[in-house]
Order: sequence, then C-alpha cells, then structure tokens
Amino acid sequence: MGRICEGLPISEGIAIGPVLQVRWGVPEVPHETVPESRVDEEVERFHAARAWAAERLEGVRDRTAKRLGAMEARIFDPQLLMLDDVEVVEGTVRYIRENHLTAPRAFEWRMLELQARWMRTSNPMVLDRLNDLEDLLVRVLHRLLDLPEPGDLTGDGAGAIVVARNLTPSLTVQMDHSRVLGIATDLGTRTSHWAILARSMDIPAVGGLVDISRRIVGNEDAIVDGRVGRVILDPSERERAVFVERKVRIRAWEDGLPELARLDPVTLDGQPIALRANLDLPGEAVRARDHGAEGVGLFRTEFLVVGRSSMPEEEEQYESYRQVLAVFPRQPVFIRTYDLGGDKFPMFLHMPAEENPFLGWRAIRVCLDNLDLFRPQLRAVLRATAHGDVRILLPLVNDVEEVVRVRELLAEEEEHLRREGQPFSPGYKLGCLVETPAAALHAVELARHCDFFSLGTNDLVQYTLAVDRTNARLAHLYNAFHPAVIRQLHLVSRVGRAAGIEVSACGEMASDPLGTFLLLGLGITALSVSWPSLPEVKKVIRSVRIEDARAAARKALAAPTPRDVIRALANGIGEAVDLSGFSGRWSQSLT
Ligand code: PEP
Ligand code: MG
Repeated sequence: MGRICEGLPISEGIAIGPVLQVRWGVPEVPHETVPESRVDEEVERFHAARAWAAERLEGVRDRTAKRLGAMEARIFDPQLLMLDDVEVVEGTVRYIRENHLTAPRAFEWRMLELQARWMRTSNPMVLDRLNDLEDLLVRVLHRLLDLPEPGDLTGDGAGAIVVARNLTPSLTVQMDHSRVLGIATDLGTRTSHWAILARSMDIPAVGGLVDISRRIVGNEDAIVDGRVGRVILDPSERERAVFVERKVRIRAWEDGLPELARLDPVTLDGQPIALRANLDLPGEAVRARDHGAEGVGLFRTEFLVVGRSSMPEEEEQYESYRQVLAVFPRQPVFIRTYDLGGDKFPMFLHMPAEENPFLGWRAIRVCLDNLDLFRPQLRAVLRATAHGDVRILLPLVNDVEEVVRVRELLAEEEEHLRREGQPFSPGYKLGCLVETPAAALHAVELARHCDFFSLGTNDLVQYTLAVDRTNARLAHLYNAFHPAVIRQLHLVSRVGRAAGIEVSACGEMASDPLGTFLLLGLGITALSVSWPSLPEVKKVIRSVRIEDARAAARKALAAPTPRDVIRALANGIGEAVDLSGFSGRWSQSLT
C-alpha cells in the first residue's frame, strides 16, 4: 500500500500536521509470587488500587460530563462496572490467595482470561468491550506497579496527528484539542467508545487503517480526512495545496455559516429541497440547527443503550427525544427505533455471538423479539409526539408484516397512554428505512403501510454489493454509485411518488456532491446528512439546476459501471461545482 491509506470515517473534519506516534499498552508485569505472610497485604493493595481507579474514573466521567455532556460521560460506566464485577474481583483475589501471585500479576491474569473469552467472538461490540477492558487494565497496572499514569498525548509544542494502533476512551478524553489536530488508528470503528468522544470533541479521525501505526517512519506529515476516511502520509505539494484550499473553503463557510444557514436550500432553477440533519446524540441538535438543518432526518437512538448494563428508563428516553424536539419544534424529527445488532449491541441483551452479525439478529428483528425493550421506546416516542412533528423510522425492514406489527404495538401503547392520561399527538407518521434490496424491490407493497420511506444508503450499498461497510480492506469495493444501487434508489423514488409518500435519503452518499446531485436527479427532494456536512450540501444544492440533475441521472441510470455512473454525473455537474474543493468520498476519486 502507498501513502494514501483508506480506512473508516470516524470523526468529520480535515487536519494536517506532523505525525505523533502514540504507543500505549499493558506494562510488563514481573513474574513474582509472595510468601503466605504477605497475601493479605497484596489483597489489600489490589482493593486499594481498585478504589483509586474508581475515583480516577469517576473524576474523568464528571469532567467529561461537564465538557461534553452526560451521554459521553456514560462511556466510562462499563469500566466502573468492571471494577466491581464479581468475576474480576473474586478471580483476582483467588489468584492472590491460592497461587500467591502479586496483586498486579493476579489482576493481569484475570483480565487476560476474560479478554481471551471475549475474543472468541468476532462481534465488533465485544471488541469495544475489549478496548474498555484494556483501558482499565492499563490504568490499574500502572497504579500497582507505581508507574506514571499514561495520558500525555500532546507531545511537546505545536499540534500533531496522533497515530496509534488503537485508542481508549480515557486517552481520547484527555486530548487537548489545540495540540491533537487529528487521529489515525489501525483499529476502531465509528461506534468505538473513543470514536464517539473524538466526534464530540470535534477532532477529525480515521480508524480501521489496518497497519498505519507500523507504516509511519515518524518524521512525516499526514493529512487526516475524517469525512471520507482517508489518511495521506507524507503529502505531496499538490495534496497540500488541495488540503489548504479545502481548509480555507471550510473556514470561509464557517465564517459565513450564520448567513448560509439562513439561505434556503433551493436549486438554481427554484426546486426547494428539505435539508435535515442526522444526529447520533441529542446534544448535536443545536449545532445542527446552527448549521442550517430544517429538522432531523435521522435521530439514531443507540446512544441510549450501547455500553449500558441496564435498559434505559422510558422517562430518560422521553427526555432525550424532547431535548431534540425543543430545538426543532415545528420541523420533522425522524426518530429511528433501536438499530441494535450488527456493529452495536448493549451488554444487557446478552446477544449470542453470531457468525454474521450484519446478517443476523439486528434492528427491527431484535426489537420485535424483545418487547420489554421495544415497548418503552415506543411509549417514549409517542409521548414525544406531543412536542413536535415526530416521524417514527424503522430500521432494516424487509417485510410488510414488520411494519404491521409495529402499528399494532403503537395502537396498544396509545391506548395505555390514553388510559393513563398521558398526552400525545396521534398525527405522527410511521415509515421505514429502505436499506436492503428486499425492501427496495418490494417497495410497492411496503408503501401501502408506510407514511414515508427513508433511503439508508449506508446499509443498502453494503447489502446490495455484499461488502461489509466496516471492513477497511474492502473500502474500495464499497461504492454507492454501483448501477445496482442507483437503480434501486430510482425505483424507490418512483414508487414513493406514485404512492404520494415522501422519500428522503439519509445515508452518507447524500453528503457527497455527486451523491447530492444524483439524488436530486432521481427525484429525491429531502436529504439528511451529518450536521458538519450541511453547509457543503446546501452549497451544492444552490449551485445546480434540477433539470441538469435529472438529465445526468438519466444518463447515470443507463451507465454500465460505477465509474461510468460517476463520469456521467461529473459531466452533468460540470463547472457548477468545483469537486476538488469538496470532501465527498466518491467525488474525490475523480480529482
Ligand atoms: C444507513 O444505513 O444508511 C443509515 C443511515 O443508518 P446507519 O448508518 O445508522 O446504519
Ligand atoms: Mg442503516
């Protein structure tokens, strides 16, 4: 592989700077035993280190809550729970008492045993737990071995691009934004706990780069492009120039944001577009509004459950939904029901290890099998309807019966709420994400039961092309402009129009300039993108003509290969948009 490393987008934004290699890891623990007479002392030492670690973690959690918010702070809960976990505590004490191991040795052994057990599954969420485990192991061992606490990621002097095998939540949260300009790691996906923190801290990051930490020499510069998931090592003059130009443009947009946010998302020839935001956390709603969002096209709700040891209360969910509706009281807010499984699942569900988690017990399937989890969410969403224009969005729907079943459950919960005198607004809408070929190809039937469709292109591409979206090695095969994908988008758009229901798009494709152009050309006039992408997308919308988009889409639909599709769109967009200045992943493949 060359200097250009393709990985997974983790946190938006671009950055350039000298590489700072960060090596952190489990310290070497001396092979030592203690005499019987010192056993009690070692047990005491272990408990004292536990208490110390708990105090430190609580401190980190409180500071995170103040700096980033309560949801982000909760990321440290699994580690706190692990510190009190019977298996961890009793196992370690047993090794000290029975094998006369020192406290650090006994703790390391116990944690490595748990690690080995968890590693037998390939589920990415378990991999996140391993990351939490390692974070805790490092912290406690440093204490027991009297080593300085790990955490100085700032190097000396000016800002740097941190390159590491992986990061941990506690290392990430200690990063000083003025000194850590960007992050590039071998491991880690968008749902990794440290990745969520990096996003909250606005640090551009790319993960899943496989072996970048071994490839760097140490004195090179790197460009991190968190939008497209690309890192350029030792950039050429031209690559630097493109970076600077893009940065200048982003800064200009940022300066002009208040003005841009006020401008309507309308094409040059007068076609208005509904431009909404995708949110991962309720706290992003204000920034989304300030970036010009006219509502929320996708509010992912997994933050309420992932990494937690118990189910969230209905009240807590209701408050989170209300928080977003308070920011968008008169605009649509699409609340997606739990999309668990695949790359995200909560600890309390004890999900079985699956050979193919993305083809497994996921999303609506999990919810319909777990009404104890699903009903409180439906109740909380129903109660939220009293505060705005709520649209309930069901993930991974394949079958009409799934929608019908949710309607029945909603009717039952409405009845309960009515009896309890809880207010809600019965005018809400229910629809589904179209993110499998099954849903796209029988959209006609689904449309009879749905009030709207939302195209989830991230998954639709994955399932159509049989390319795992989290597998960095396959990133070059993951192409949203494959003819098989765009023909399904066209089909769903036509079905929606014929049925008189809105079809929006909320996958990442909508934030690529050529993706925006194609979707407009296919007749999709509601787009939802992550909030940092809103200014770029609005800029594209305001620079093109809907007639040109339609003509280009017709040509794209007749194109035989993804490359021809992209070329047809690039020709169609012509001079209207200078693609080299945008960070769209597919558009960039042309520059
Ligand atoms: C999608 O699949 O396109 C989507 C928007 O949902 P997610 O990325 O959360 O799977
Ligand atoms: Mg999806």
